Parts: sequence; C-alpha cells; structure tokens
Amino acid sequence: MDAQVAVIGVGSIGSMALWQLARQGVDAIGFERYAPGHDQAAAGGESRIFRTAYLEGPGYVPLLLRARELWRELEEESGQSLLTLNGGLMIGHAESESMRNVLESAARFDLPHQVLDAEQMAARYPQHRMLPGEIAFFDEWAGVLRPEFAVLAAARAARTRGARLVTGHSVTGIEPFSDGVRVHTAVRTYTVEQAVLTAGPWTGRFAPELADQVTPKKLVMTWYPALDVDAYRPDRFPIFIRESGDVHIFGIPTLDGGSVKVAPHASYGDLADADDLDRNVPPGDLKSINRAVAELLPGLLPTPVRISSYMDAYTSDGHGLVGALPGVDNVWLLGAFSGHGFKLATAFGQVAADLVTDGKTNLPIEQLDPARFIG
Ligand SMILES: Cc1cc2nc3c(=O)[nH]c(=O)nc-3n(C[C@H](O)[C@H](O)[C@H](O)COP(=O)(O)OP(=O)(O)OC[C@H]3O[C@@H](n4cnc5c(N)ncnc54)[C@H](O)[C@@H]3O)c2cc1C
Repeated sequence: MDAQVAVIGVGSIGSMALWQLARQGVDAIGFERYAPGHDQAAAGGESRIFRTAYLEGPGYVPLLLRARELWRELEEESGQSLLTLNGGLMIGHAESESMRNVLESAARFDLPHQVLDAEQMAARYPQHRMLPGEIAFFDEWAGVLRPEFAVLAAARAARTRGARLVTGHSVTGIEPFSDGVRVHTAVRTYTVEQAVLTAGPWTGRFAPELADQVTPKKLVMTWYPALDVDAYRPDRFPIFIRESGDVHIFGIPTLDGGSVKVAPHASYGDLADADDLDRNVPPGDLKSINRAVAELLPGLLPTPVRISSYMDAYTSDGHGLVGALPGVDNVWLLGAFSGHGFKLATAFGQVAADLVTDGKTNLPIEQLDPARFIG
C-alpha cells in the first residue's frame, strides 16, 4: 500500500479532508491536478460568504456551527485570518421559502439575529434600496471567508502533519477492489486502503451512476466601484443575499478598498463537462446583474470593474453528495455542493475523516446521502 487514504482533488473540501485526516494521524496522499489554492474550479475570486441562519434549510445549522469552530482552529493552526464575521443580511419577502428557512433556523437553534423593516434598514444600511413588502434578517454569525488562502492553509497544515501531496497532474481513474483502491495517474498507479473523492466540478466523472444527477455549471462574479467606498467596508456593510421576485443576488463588502462584489445567486448555464468552462463573459450576459445593482444599490456604479468565471457541480435537488460512493464501501464521495459548499468545507473535512476512520459521523449528513438518487 502507498498510503491508508487517497484524497482526490485538493480544493475546498479535499484540502480540509486532508488536514483532518492528518490531524487524526491517518497516512494520506492528496492528488491535485493544479496546486492547492488555485482559482480554476469552484474556489476563487477572493471571497465566499459564511452564514449560519441557513436559507437552504435549518438541517444544515449543526454542520455550520461545527464548520465555524473548525475555521477558527484552522486560523490558529495556520496563523492566518480566514473568516471575518461582520454579519449578514438576508433580504426578501417575509413569506418566501428562503426567509421562512432563515427564521426557522434562528428559532430552532437560538441564533443571534435581528429582523429589520424598511425604515430600520434605511437608518442602518442605507446602501440598500428596499422594495415594498421586503424585510431584512440580520444574521450575526455571518461574514466573509478567503477561499484561496483557506485551501492553501489547510493543505499546508496537512503537510506539516505528515500528509503527502501529488500535484500538477490528474487522477485518470480509480479502481476499487476487495482490499483497497487503485488510483491511476498518467505517471503511475497508487494503491491505498480507501479513497475520498473531492473532485468538485469533475465529480460526475468519478461517480458515473450519479452522472445524470450532477451537472457542472458556470458561475460569474462581478465587482462594482463604490462612490463612497467607506460605506462598503466590512464594519458598515454586512454580506447580503437578496432573494426577492426575480432578483437573486449576493454581495460582499469591499476587500480591495475600491470595489464591492455583487453577483447573481444563480448559475450562467450548464456545462457538458467541467473542462469546457469558457471563462469569457459576453457583455450581454451582465445586463440583469447591472440592472439589479442600478436599482437596488444606488451607491455603486452599475458597470463592473472586474468580472471572473468559476464553476461548481450541482445536484438536481440543490444539496451536495456526502457518503459512500453507491455500491462501494471503501470510497467516500463529497461533492456537488451546488453553489453553497465553501462555508461548510471545514465541517465536511471532519466528516471525511470520520467516515474513513469510523465508517460514520455524528454530524448530520443524512439528507446529503448520495444513495438518495439511486432508484
Ligand atoms: C462563483 C461562486 C460563488 C460561490 N459562493 C459561495 C459562497 O459565497 N459561500 C459558499 O459557501 N459557497 C459558495 N460557492 C460554492 C463553493 O465555492 C463550492 O461549493 C465549493 O468550493 C466546492 O468545493 P469542492 O471541493 O467540491 O470543489 P473545488 O474547490 O473545485 O475542488 C475540487 C478540486 O479537485 C481537483 N480535481 C478535479 N479533478 C481532479 C483529478 N482528476 N485529479 C486531480 N485533481 C482533480 C480540482 O482541480 C479542484 O482543486 C460558490 C461557488 C462559486 C463557483
């Protein structure tokens, strides 16, 4: 055997899995087609949102609380600041499903929050123009993560604790057998006891029985210049998500001291294969986000100064895949986080290590079981 465990893809989730495995003393090798911290797949573009009152459903809250603790542990171990909890606003209609999920998350788990009406919003956060019938939910445990540095920090921490990394070429296939898994690369084949699949947008390639349910999608992020940049610094401008009518956008305070990220909370379309990502963005594709900025964020100039394309794998129900690869008992799958997995990466790293060492975890992952798609 070359190692106990192979982690295939050292991106957002794989880097955290490698770190947690190394922390538990498991001999692991991480395989990464680029190098940890790259911005060619799902993690990149300077920032990701962290939030705790979850619009995707209260079932995620225990994972989010554990993720937050582990982000702080990674900061301590790496000496780097990775998560700034400057608060977050969820803006929308009180009766919408997203707002109901956020309110239910807060009530069920006693999360610190405030509900603000249009008048209170105008007084506290005049950067937002509220529409009739909208309210805002302020999540105190929300903020900004730094994706590239977080992945790098976890990969470095894992290496310091003894994990090995193979970078610069792809895993071309895996072959589970009764006592282990063969991991093929263009250079050589490695044999390990178990494998953790964290290939992000390429998840479908390694899980052919789930391929119908997993689609890589292109996502575009845009940064807009602020007229008064001080009003958009983290202490005055919480992260926000706005789900209201046909508006689905999110925003992050200025990190570069000049521009504010405001981007669509939806994808720009399906990719037949993650290798097909065209990072070019035709100007016509930006009409609706530019219009939303002009209408809802009057302190920003509605023409972006920076545009970047990324991708993530999506499932048909919008929830990730976490658990055994169907029909295989020594390969664990963690992927297809459907545009909202980064904040949970540290918790999923722990889940991966729990599954490898124990075959189970105490964290609630039942709703993410890949077997839900197998008829
Ligand atoms: C534009 C955008 C904005 C987002 N905003 C948020 C947000 O605000 N908050 C949030 O929580 N989430 C957000 N997400 C979602 C989140 O970023 C993703 O769900 C998460 O990063 C997915 O992590 P992953 O590990 O599955 O994929 P990745 O981070 O892409 O990691 C997969 C890794 O596997 C490697 N790999 C793939 N195939 C192979 C192979 N054959 N051999 C070797 N290596 C391989 C890749 O190079 C890559 O490094 C956003 C996503 C995008 C694209």
